[in-house]
Amino acid sequence: MVTDLTGETGADTSILRQAIREFAEREIGPHVMEWDEAQRFPLELTPKLSEIGIMGAILPAEFGGSGLSYPEYVVVIEEISRVDGSIGLFLAAHNSLCANHIYLFGTEDQKRGYLPDLATGRKIGAWALTEPGSGSDAGSARTTAVRDGDYFVLNGSKNFITNASLAVTFVVFAVTDANSDPRHLSAFIVEQGAAGLSIGKKENKLGMRASDTASVILEECRVPASNLLGTLGNGFSEAMEVLDGGRISIAALGLGMAAGAYENALKYAKERRQFGKPLADFEAIQFKLADMATEIEAARLLTLHAATLMQKGLKTTKESSMAKLYASETAVRVANEAVQIHGGYGFIKDFPVEKYYRDVKLCTIGEGTSEIQRLIISRQILK
Ligand SMILES: Cc1cc2nc3c(=O)[nH]c(=O)nc-3n(C[C@H](O)[C@H](O)[C@H](O)COP(=O)(O)OP(=O)(O)OC[C@H]3O[C@@H](n4cnc5c(N)ncnc54)[C@H](O)[C@@H]3O)c2cc1C
Repeated sequence: MVTDLTGETGADTSILRQAIREFAEREIGPHVMEWDEAQRFPLELTPKLSEIGIMGAILPAEFGGSGLSYPEYVVVIEEISRVDGSIGLFLAAHNSLCANHIYLFGTEDQKRGYLPDLATGRKIGAWALTEPGSGSDAGSARTTAVRDGDYFVLNGSKNFITNASLAVTFVVFAVTDANSDPRHLSAFIVEQGAAGLSIGKKENKLGMRASDTASVILEECRVPASNLLGTLGNGFSEAMEVLDGGRISIAALGLGMAAGAYENALKYAKERRQFGKPLADFEAIQFKLADMATEIEAARLLTLHAATLMQKGLKTTKESSMAKLYASETAVRVANEAVQIHGGYGFIKDFPVEKYYRDVKLCTIGEGTSEIQRLIISRQILK
């Protein structure tokens, strides 16, 4: 049974959890391996995700969203990812990166212009910060945006962008004044179809194979000046603020996959017999399960704690990084033990733990690696 008191709010999310769980098991569960092997994001799923209101999960109703609280959003991402991390990653990039960035920093016109289509899933969103030469060091971006009358002209490329081949609405970061400060980044809204915007190579990945990951190429891409998002030159700190929320969603993603891997291992340990008794009768296996369950519960509480603080409007840089670091590393450990408990059967694709094992690794990399989370946490502690 899952703890359903969402952190300090005490709000009961068990009905939401049950509804999302049933949806994920019914609509996603039967297709997980098919989508993974085809490396295909199932676009046919998006109307169903829209119907249950999770394409605009955290956006207010006035923009077509469901107005879920951040702790509730954690439950959504966790329950979807418990069944398929790729769909959780799709939702996380769309909701807490792209749509939330426009919601937090957009003008009233931008919010009215872009959010309803994102919230209802008519358009898919992507958020493009990473470049071939700048990952952890996002401030060293090389993509430029040069003002030309009523336009900005963007040149450069972004890589590893979730949803890139599917998205209509991109939030793209570019250097707007290379002379004054290398971190003089600004964010722009760029729509599919803009002259000079093209999508590059789709990545062939270790895990999260149903999630679309591709590069975004900008060649003399002219964007109306009115598409500047947030304050000129303030894009780096705006990106960091968006990532405070994004990292909570990656924590939820790891948490969901850890829970899925653990449940499969628990079931298998009760069923599989060796030496005349179930694996679950061996103390070595019992202790693995005990550690897995304890770490998952700790990861859930850290994640809900960060989400609750965010919901209260507090700064969560440290708590978001702690949740992301701990939940993603937990997911890697738990998936590893889940494979171990399955023995040779954990190594073959007929059992779900093989896929969790591949998928969880992304959580220690995307939206800032574990090393970068430790850097952020230590800076917050030592400042
Ligand atoms: C599947 C997938 C989806 C992604 N989706 C998106 C997306 O939607 N949008 C987006 O903008 N980006 C996205 N990313 C990019 C992701 O955020 C970056 O890959 C990540 O931030 C790491 O950057 P890098 O790959 O360039 O690694 P690097 O920065 O080159 O790091 C390599 C290694 O060096 C370590 N390292 C780097 N600097 C330090 C330091 N100062 N101290 C200690 N260790 C350090 C890192 O921790 C890592 O272990 C995605 C990546 C993947 C794989």
